[in-house]
Amino acid sequence: MTIEERLRSRGLRVTDIRRDVLHLLQESDRALSQADVERALPDLADRVTLFRVLHNFEEAGLVHRVIDPQGTSRYATCAPTCSADHHHDMHAHFRCTACDGVFCVTGLEQPAAVVPKGFTVHEVRIELVGRCATCG
Ligand SMILES: [Zn+2]
Ligand SMILES: [Zn+2]
Ligand SMILES: [Zn+2]
Repeated sequence: MTIEERLRSRGLRVTDIRRDVLHLLQESDRALSQADVERALPDLADRVTLFRVLHNFEEAGLVHRVIDPQGTSRYATCAPTCSADHHHDMHAHFRCTACDGVFCVTGLEQPAAVVPKGFTVHEVRIELVGRCATCG
């Protein structure tokens, strides 16, 4: 599926910024923060527009957000099974201590946690910490 088809399949109109940002995220081996996207695509529209594009992608089930311990959001493309109504990205993420890169990993899906009565889980973060292949 081309980038344009992916956008249209989620009901998003194809614009230059949407195409460029989704392409960048799709080609990246790691999750990218908004600052990373701004650095990679310096000619993009303003920050507010970029924020809205990333937010639209998340709502449309195209990308999921990974929040690191410092609270910075990074975005990674979703599996095709994700949809606007439901994300299925309960996978673990790997964080490299050398380059601070965050990568999606599979094989460690969300365990069925039992929380005390009255507790509500908003998000599950499973983080693996180590060194990525580039950093050795
Ligand atoms: Zn997703
Ligand atoms: Zn690394
Ligand atoms: Zn992920």
